[in-house]
Amino acid sequence: MSLIVDDLTVKLYTNFKKKEFFNVADSVSFSVQNGEIIAIVGESGSGKSFLGLSLMRLNPPYISEISSGNIFVSSPENSEKINIAKLKENKLSDVRGRLISMIFQDPNVSLNPVIKIGDQIIEAILAHKKMKKKDAADIAMHYLELMRIDGKARFNSYPHELSGGMRQRVMIAMAMVLNPAVLVADEPTTALDVKTSLQVLALIEKMRVEKNVSVIFISHDLSIARNISDKTIVFYAGQIMEYGKTEDIINNPVHPYTISLIKSVPALSKDYVPREKLFVIPGSLSQNDFKSGKCRFYGRCFKKTEECLNNISLLKLNGERFVRCINIK
Ligand code: SF4
Repeated sequence: MSLIVDDLTVKLYTNFKKKEFFNVADSVSFSVQNGEIIAIVGESGSGKSFLGLSLMRLNPPYISEISSGNIFVSSPENSEKINIAKLKENKLSDVRGRLISMIFQDPNVSLNPVIKIGDQIIEAILAHKKMKKKDAADIAMHYLELMRIDGKARFNSYPHELSGGMRQRVMIAMAMVLNPAVLVADEPTTALDVKTSLQVLALIEKMRVEKNVSVIFISHDLSIARNISDKTIVFYAGQIMEYGKTEDIINNPVHPYTISLIKSVPALSKDYVPREKLFVIPGSLSQNDFKSGKCRFYGRCFKKTEECLNNISLLKLNGERFVRCINIK
């Protein structure tokens, strides 16, 4: 197992002085095996990106904190197992990049605009490994080539000289160069055109196969999740609504939110009639949903009953299938 997230709760402060907060991730538990891809899907504002940041303790301090739970990350190559949630601040840089790495929707956030891309990758290597700069340069070149970037031609390019897709591939090279056990990919294809998105997805899949990396793939797009992941978590208002094998979730969704999400994606919906109006989930996700003592999907649910006004727990359906709903029959 590369990653075990155990009962993780992350607070997001709305007023730090008055200690007013809500749980942007609420008692979240899941695990990822070596070489497995797990998708976390949900609409914007559901808390999924915050959860991804928290896995690396990159959630912004002063406005958020991990209040309970564990994040165990382990390397398949040795017996090292580290609880990131409890790690001292000064030890985090040793783990980031080496055991767990992250790529973002916008590579410009992570790439330094005034340093050549080859040098940025070398820097990432030398921050963790003692070796000659020349050897680090060889590794950097190798990873650029793995990402189908002409290393010789592009090694000395600045980020602005590359296309968006190429910058994203440089990001993946940089994230993978230390051979981490876990890669968190937060909406890595959202800003890309369809063709480039497919290339990036293919490269993530290639890293899974060739490097046995476990991937947490965060996306608002269930159809992408279907194509790339082994398991899927459907996330809403900071909670897991449904969790299981991706093919089971897509072919036999049981949670009303998952059913509604699938219905609103033409490529997935069995009910979709071309040129007919698309299904839209009524209402919208609000901050109050995160604080709600009832089912958090209550206000938008087509199956709600009076019993749903109580707090709803995540129930085990069978094997690795979980659902947070009391009206699934
Ligand atoms: S518990 Fe009730 S409100 Fe919540 S998803 Fe299920 S049916 Fe809908």
